[in-house]
Amino acid sequence: MGGQADSLVLNLVGPSTFVVFAVAFLWAWAISDGRNYLLLIAACCLLSSVGGIFRLIVGWPSPVGVHIFISSLFYISATLAGCEGILRRFGHRIGIAADAFILAAFTGLALWFVYVDPSFVARVYIQNLLPGMIFLYTALRLSHLARGPYSERAVFWILLVFAIQFFPRTFITLAMLPDPSIENFGQSAFWPVLQLTNAVLGTALLLAILIAELSEMIDRLRTERDLDQLTGVLNRRGFEDRAGQLFEQAEGRQPALVLLDLDHFKLVNDTCGHAAGDEVLRAVGALMRSSLRQSEVLGRIGGEEFAILIPDGGRDLAQILVARLEHAIAAADFDLPAAAPSIAGSFGVAVRGAGESYLDCFKRADAALYQAKSEGRSRAIFAGSQQPG
Ligand code: GH3
Ligand code: MG
Ligand code: MG
Repeated sequence: MGGQADSLVLNLVGPSTFVVFAVAFLWAWAISDGRNYLLLIAACCLLSSVGGIFRLIVGWPSPVGVHIFISSLFYISATLAGCEGILRRFGHRIGIAADAFILAAFTGLALWFVYVDPSFVARVYIQNLLPGMIFLYTALRLSHLARGPYSERAVFWILLVFAIQFFPRTFITLAMLPDPSIENFGQSAFWPVLQLTNAVLGTALLLAILIAELSEMIDRLRTERDLDQLTGVLNRRGFEDRAGQLFEQAEGRQPALVLLDLDHFKLVNDTCGHAAGDEVLRAVGALMRSSLRQSEVLGRIGGEEFAILIPDGGRDLAQILVARLEHAIAAADFDLPAAAPSIAGSFGVAVRGAGESYLDCFKRADAALYQAKSEGRSRAIFAGSQQPG
């Protein structure tokens, strides 16, 4: 009695784990802003769980026809939902029509070998090789993940191992049975091995998918956190992070910090309205972005204040860049009323000195900007040179 209770508890581990994963994927879906593939994976977990509980209730492996059939349907539906979900996560799909066809073909074959031409061996092959093929197809479609981020590589490799093990496991078990009957099969090593591989690899696969999804969510949030909503360039926090990193890796290079503050911007707001001021800021952000190289970092670090970090090139490159920006701002059409003040900016520039921190360099650039303002605006001042580092 105690042994039976123990084995019941053991057999409930699989279905309970799947319920936990179903809840986790539903939660991930609820906070994901419409990533519906997560619902398919949750459905896969629920179908696996209900299928497992069903097998437990009817006493598996069962020789009774309809039980075999129902249990197989849970099994294959879970496989299809799971693989369809994983494929959709990465922009592929099996497709509803193909899903329906596979399900119908599977149902037809299962019914045939249960009722019309009862064949235990044929059923074992169908029930194992078909999911194996669906998993293998999914893994091969996603082979490009093997070169992606680690969490996606894990999804691919676990999926591939999961898919491949269906084949030798099925052939070896059947070959080893002295007399392939359902009773012998129930006693064979197939069942514990199947339970174990499904539990271990299934759990690993679901975990890998969940981790891949969560790390992508975190990346998205981090990107949003570092971006300025109005202009789409980095905000102050994002800029300082990137600039600070580049300063730390600046050995042997000459990074330069360029600050731009728009002149009399309060007047633009006062004469044209705040919304028009916003449009100007957006346009300035866009034209600065298009004037920069890929390696140069741009941020909006204050209301009408932008900053650029040039990773290398010193004063010469900074001078060229400032001239290009002055020209671009002067030539731009900001679509403002005739009474609006013209848009111009003052620049403060500092080239990093030997061992100088980002903060110290920023202070010198800011002082240069202040000087540009006090000397009449619409000009660039370069901070006195420090020993280049
Ligand atoms: P200065 O030439 O000395 O820089 O003069 P200024 O008017 O540009 O400088 P000040 O710092 O006095 O004012 C900055 C103005 O920028 C005040 C504020 O109305 C405006 N501003 C700040 N952020 C935004 C924004 O997000 N949208 C708009 N439309 N205006 C903003
Ligand atoms: Mg200003
Ligand atoms: Mg300002």
